[in-house]
Amino acid sequence: SSCVLGFDLVLKMYVIETLCPLFNLSGFLQIKRGDYESEVVVFGSSAAQQKVKEMIDDLMADGSSQFRSGMKKGFLYSSGYGGSKQFPDQKCLSSNLCFLIFSILKSSDLPPLKKKFYTEAKSVAMLTTEEVDEWRKENNNIFVDDLKEEGEKRSIPNPCRTFLEAFELYPEIMDNIHRVGFTKPTPIQSQAWPVLLSGEDLIGIAQTGTGKTLAYLLPGFIHVDGQIVAERGGPGMLVLTPTRELALQIEAECSKYSYKGYKSMCIYGGGDRRGQVNVVKSGVDIVIATPGRLHDLQMNEIINLRSITYLVLDEADRMLDMGFEPQIMKILLDIRPDRQTVMTSATWPPGVRRLARSYLKDPMMVYVGTLDLAAVNTVKQTVLFVHEEEKKSYVFDFIRNMEPQDKVLIFVGKKIMADDLSSDMCLQGLIVQSLHGGHEQCDREEALKDFKDGRVRILVATDLASRGLDVFDITHIFNYDFPRNIEEYVHRVGRTGRAGRSGIAVTLVTRENWRMAPELIPILERAGQEVPEELVLMAERYEKHKREKEMYSPRGGGGGGGGGGRGRGGRDRGRNWEF
Ligand code: AMP
Repeated sequence: SSCVLGFDLVLKMYVIETLCPLFNLSGFLQIKRGDYESEVVVFGSSAAQQKVKEMIDDLMADGSSQFRSGMKKGFLYSSGYGGSKQFPDQKCLSSNLCFLIFSILKSSDLPPLKKKFYTEAKSVAMLTTEEVDEWRKENNNIFVDDLKEEGEKRSIPNPCRTFLEAFELYPEIMDNIHRVGFTKPTPIQSQAWPVLLSGEDLIGIAQTGTGKTLAYLLPGFIHVDGQIVAERGGPGMLVLTPTRELALQIEAECSKYSYKGYKSMCIYGGGDRRGQVNVVKSGVDIVIATPGRLHDLQMNEIINLRSITYLVLDEADRMLDMGFEPQIMKILLDIRPDRQTVMTSATWPPGVRRLARSYLKDPMMVYVGTLDLAAVNTVKQTVLFVHEEEKKSYVFDFIRNMEPQDKVLIFVGKKIMADDLSSDMCLQGLIVQSLHGGHEQCDREEALKDFKDGRVRILVATDLASRGLDVFDITHIFNYDFPRNIEEYVHRVGRTGRAGRSGIAVTLVTRENWRMAPELIPILERAGQEVPEELVLMAERYEKHKREKEMYSPRGGGGGGGGGGRGRGGRDRGRNWEF
């Protein structure tokens, strides 16, 4: 059955240009082209069709003025998907429209979903507001909010201060926790568990090292187990994550807690595709995947994503940085809209907020102050001012002075530099590994394993290794090239000083890095580190240069990469950095 909706030209152009190629809508919406009016044919139950019609009417009422003004300025015809510069909301609107339409069409014939698995322990219920506030303050100053509108906000669950408070009803989870010997939940776990077990969507602003993986995995196990379906016909939980290394690490964590014998697997590009296909076909419960390869298997109808009811978008900011947004959108179209969704991100830039708006439903947010390096005040941070051509002698000097138990992760900007530096080291008889996205997957895994196991104590890597990698005994970070933005600096430095150990970070800064100086100073200050005089002078010189540039170029403050001055503005300079 189908119904036909009339579209005016402007909306038609918009739909054809942006929605169709992006989302391959042909199965559900057929758009017929006309000159001034176009038609959209919507398939599905009559209730679904009615709902879609209402939504499109709403959208046209909301959006058409924006499109018309766009057309007047002559923007419309040049604005495809990449035209979102002229219409900041366009991408958002398109994904929302698409998401809503699919929500209605797809939810009509799906089995019911169970999300509530939480019974608040007495000791948790008894906490007073003051006690809760005090606890949050003492635990990394953790901040929790309901993202619903003012006036509609729900009460936020009290934290579970012990494992038992969260999982008393789930003895198998408790057994596993006892087996690994953890003593208490990390702050994000304490706050995320009651929210997730209550069935709410959650955004966790936290970086690796905070215990975020278990924060979403354990409620996920309970959720998958709690569904009342005879045969799921595919995996129940999906974790999307930016890099293969992170996927493997999450999978290791997943297997460690092997709940009810659930089978988990990793799907990532570069790995043995046929092997992955065979595992999928043999049936899995939990999939941890990078978006590219998963989308490939989805397109080829090898994996069924419709059975997924618990979805995690891990390190969403990183996935966007790596350009995975189109694949993520396509993957999510196949996943039922009434699922439970968790998103983690180390930062909260506009792109991540947009993802959250489009794909999470009334989420709560838990924020563990990650970008505040005070949280990593166990790392001593040193900055050295050098010329580009002196860098090699600095790094070799550093290596000569290493103690036998030291382990250093050296960060460089480009793949070729990682190869160049590591082969120089090899030639000098040093035992070294290198890690970057240009290597075969098996080599990447071996490099990391050698470094983790201590067979190799020097790893030269691109920012592929700046996040997520959990090697607990790295003693030194050596920033051979300054990272592309200050967030990445924080992530790199956070690779050491883990689990209460102390660490040292050495950063080489050249004249070319001057735009980072104003952003580095507050990071050092907050972590109680010494701020070198030269860095202050460099920052002043840069600020002066920026002011002068703005004075001479009236548009200087606009989209030219100046603006907020944030590192992410440096995307166009991305040629200097690779993963
Ligand atoms: P993540 O932030 O998820 O990458 O976790 C970082 C490390 O902390 C992993 O090695 C975890 O196994 C470990 N971890 C997770 N939860 C806890 C906990 N409650 N207590 C101690 N360590 C933990």
